[in-house]
Amino acid sequence: TDFGFTSVSVEEKSTRVREVFDSVASSYDLMNDLMSLGIHRVWKQAFADWLAPRPGHRLLDVAGGTGDIAALWRKRGGGPVTVCDINAEMIAVGRDRLEKAGGDDAVDWVVGNAEDLPLADASVDRVTIAFGLRNVTRIDRALGEMTRVLRPGGRFMCLEFSRPTQAWLDPIYDTYSFKVLPWLGDKVAQDRPAYQYLAESIRRFPDQQDLAERMRRVGLEQVKWRNLSAGIAAIHSGWRL
Ligand code: SAM
Repeated sequence: TDFGFTSVSVEEKSTRVREVFDSVASSYDLMNDLMSLGIHRVWKQAFADWLAPRPGHRLLDVAGGTGDIAALWRKRGGGPVTVCDINAEMIAVGRDRLEKAGGDDAVDWVVGNAEDLPLADASVDRVTIAFGLRNVTRIDRALGEMTRVLRPGGRFMCLEFSRPTQAWLDPIYDTYSFKVLPWLGDKVAQDRPAYQYLAESIRRFPDQQDLAERMRRVGLEQVKWRNLSAGIAAIHSGWRL
C-alpha cells in the first residue's frame, strides 16, 4: 500500500483518513493507551493545564474524536463545549462513553470538517485541536477556519506530535514508530496499514517552528510552544487579538 500522501489527490487523502478512523473507532481509546504507554493522558493533562478552562468560556474542540479534551475541559470547570469531528463513528463512540458516564448537556457533538467549520465567525472563546491537525488535508485552511470562529481575545491551542529534540532518541523513536507501532496495530486493531499511516503522518507534519510560522500567517499572535517528552509532542498556543 502506498501511504505517500505526496502523490495522492486531496480527495483521496480525505477518503483515506476517513477510512482509517472508521476502521479504528471502536478500538481507538484502547490503542491510544497501548501505543503511547498511557503517556497521551499525561500530555492531555499538560494541555488542559495550559488551556486553563473557565466557566464563562465556550470551547470548540476540533477533530475531537471520542471527546477526551471536552471531558477534561468540563471536569476542570470549563463552559459549554462543541466537539466537532469529520467522522461520525468516532463521535458515536465518544457520545456513548459520555452517556455511560452520566451524560452532560453542555457538550454537543457535530460532524464537520476542520477546513470548513459549521460555526459562525467569532463565536467561541477557545479552539483546541489535539492529535487532529496532522490528519487534516489542508492545514493552513484549517488554521484559518479555527481562527475565524474565535472571538477577538480568544485563544487557539494545538496538541500534536512534533519533532524530537534529542538526537540520541532517534533510533529508538524510529524503531518504535515503524516496527512496534504497526505490529501493535496488527495485533490489537487487526489493521496494520492504519497504524503505518499514523507513523508516516507524524513524520510529514510540520515541526515546532514551522507550525508556529503557519499559525502567525493566519493572523494568530503571541504564538508560543512547549515541548512534551523531549519534543515527541508539542503544545502550540496563539491568540486572536
Ligand atoms: N482529539 C482526539 C484525541 O485527542 O483523542 C482525537 C484525535 S484522533 C487521532 C484524530 C481525529 O481527527 C479523528 O477522530 C478523525 O476523524 C479527525 N479528523 C481527521 N480529519 C479531520 C478533518 N478534516 N476535520 C475534522 N476532524 C478530522
